[in-house]
Amino acid sequence: MSATPDAVLAELAAKLSPLGRAAEASLEGLDETKAARMALSVLAQAGLCAWTVPHAYGGADSAGLSAPDDVSVRVLCMLRRALAYHSGMLDVMFVLQGLGSYAIARAGTPAQRSEWLPRVARGESIAAFALTEPEAGSDLGGIATRAERRGSTWVLSGGKTFISNCGVADFYTLLARTSGERGDGGKGSLTMFLVPGSAKGLTARRFEVTAPHPIGDLALEAVELDDAQRIGEVGAGLELALSVLGRFRTSVAAAATGFARRALDESLAHLRNRQQFGRPLGAFQGLRFDIAEMDVRLRAAELLVSEAAAAVDRGERASAEVARAKLFATEVASWLCDRAVQHLGGLGVKRGSPVERAWREARALRIYEGTSEVQKLILARELLEGPAED
Ligand SMILES: Cc1cc2nc3c(=O)[nH]c(=O)nc-3n(C[C@H](O)[C@H](O)[C@H](O)COP(=O)(O)OP(=O)(O)OC[C@H]3O[C@@H](n4cnc5c(N)ncnc54)[C@H](O)[C@@H]3O)c2cc1C
Repeated sequence: MSATPDAVLAELAAKLSPLGRAAEASLEGLDETKAARMALSVLAQAGLCAWTVPHAYGGADSAGLSAPDDVSVRVLCMLRRALAYHSGMLDVMFVLQGLGSYAIARAGTPAQRSEWLPRVARGESIAAFALTEPEAGSDLGGIATRAERRGSTWVLSGGKTFISNCGVADFYTLLARTSGERGDGGKGSLTMFLVPGSAKGLTARRFEVTAPHPIGDLALEAVELDDAQRIGEVGAGLELALSVLGRFRTSVAAAATGFARRALDESLAHLRNRQQFGRPLGAFQGLRFDIAEMDVRLRAAELLVSEAAAAVDRGERASAEVARAKLFATEVASWLCDRAVQHLGGLGVKRGSPVERAWREARALRIYEGTSEVQKLILARELLEGPAED
């Protein structure tokens, strides 16, 4: 008898807490590359990477939570929330397997799918997604990395920045310009490619961001790719990249609720136990009001995430639901983690404490996969003009 969706979710939930607690302790203090690889191996051993790849292409069976040729956003969200509760590194290494490989699932050739996706699902190949450039962030029409066709070969030159898994990835799904000029909006002029990490002419330079995260710049100097390494149609790259973001963006909101839930739990424990002025801190009304606000806002964020994830899994367009969830959950997480830091006093800024980590982790979520301002633009467009054509 095959599993029901509820049974699938319950089985995953049961293994996540012990796995997260153990990994949290063992990842502590490792250098970033080691931590990234160890996090991936923990995820792979637990079979969790399989949830980032559709069942039809070697991933886990979601028992109807999504179509067989798609990934379930409800499962992605449930996993990211639970992983983020314990470790930002576990969370990011999990989601990048999907974010970096989904373009292949969506539009890859049968050969690309069978070569890469089962390996991603087993955690044997590390994936990355490369869109951003120094002059192209929120506006992907600014992409300048060029792919020129020479017979059956493409020659790619340019540079990417802020690329997660930079230097550790086995392959990048990368957006490059195949026609037009920078600033043309990108529709019809960008194409997605599958670039192996070992490609000649590709160099990675790492840098650090606020929270532990394998990230850096990629330089492409006449990187030669066969036409068989093109993903999807020539000129259809922007739509493909946006469809990847559309599938994964809700899970950023879910990760935000994971960091926030941890911060709230830490706050509650501290306010119950810490005595000042002869009473537990939690007896003071100012802090009690804070806790109530934190609880309500976090619960609202979790409900928006559930609404958006279910809508995307049902195959609905759901742009407004996803934008609402991403905007609200990430902003609430940053605010809530900051309140938790305040509740813990000096301990809140002690490097490596759970609340200090959550506070740093939550910040970048308001920026990547569409900033808060971009989510507001999407939501306002949906409300004022109705669904866009794209
Ligand atoms: C930790 C981290 C991981 C990342 N990982 C990846 C990755 O794996 N792959 C990848 O391709 N990219 C990645 N990025 C890049 C990320 O997607 C970009 O940083 C993001 O899209 C914003 O682009 P930008 O930084 O160029 O900011 P800009 O687009 O220059 O924006 C700067 C500010 O202006 C605001 N703004 C921009 N346009 C408007 C407007 N029209 N109206 C109002 N405000 C506006 C923005 O909201 C922002 O506050 C990552 C970034 C971070 C921080």
